[in-house]
Amino acid sequence: MNKALHSNQAHFISLLARLSRLINHEGHAVGLKPAQWDALRYLAQANKFSRSPSALTAYLGATKGTISQTLMSLEKKGLVEKTQDPNDKRSVGLDLTTAGKALAKEDALRPFANVIEVLPVEDQKDIEEALEKLLRAKLRSEGNRPFGICKSCRHFRKNTPSGEPHYCSLLNEPLSELGSEKICLEQEAA
Ligand code: SF4
Repeated sequence: MNKALHSNQAHFISLLARLSRLINHEGHAVGLKPAQWDALRYLAQANKFSRSPSALTAYLGATKGTISQTLMSLEKKGLVEKTQDPNDKRSVGLDLTTAGKALAKEDALRPFANVIEVLPVEDQKDIEEALEKLLRAKLRSEGNRPFGICKSCRHFRKNTPSGEPHYCSLLNEPLSELGSEKICLEQEAA
């Protein structure tokens, strides 16, 4: 039998659920559904090794069918395009189109970001760290990948002669400065 929730746990979960509902409500802006916004945001943040339907499915914790429908809608709207690896015809990549990149910059959550900015910087950092820990714990409990920023990965090699200017020792690939700021499916915390 499941243990009963403590009142502070119940309050904490209800705060997260209310925030999530409010955020999802804002996500309907400019005719996109929240799942479509989630995919658009992911593709704007993900590095070139992680922009694929399977990585998107893993990141959002959705089913393959849902992701495939979401991608079809985004393609129809001219926001996402599929790409093919010339060395592996079976491998499908995803890229935002120019319109998709422009829309990702005008994120529907901008009004919510304005609310966050009202909080003191220290509070913002504390909340971000706490939410990050909570998310990682939840993903770990389900055996899912956490994803994470490339430059904080244990395989990241800064300013190497063979890099661009950096290098990934896991994938043996050069990494640009911009790429080092993106999130990656293979990231392992340093
Ligand atoms: S260094 Fe880590 S995060 Fe960056 S591309 Fe390589 S595996 Fe991914």
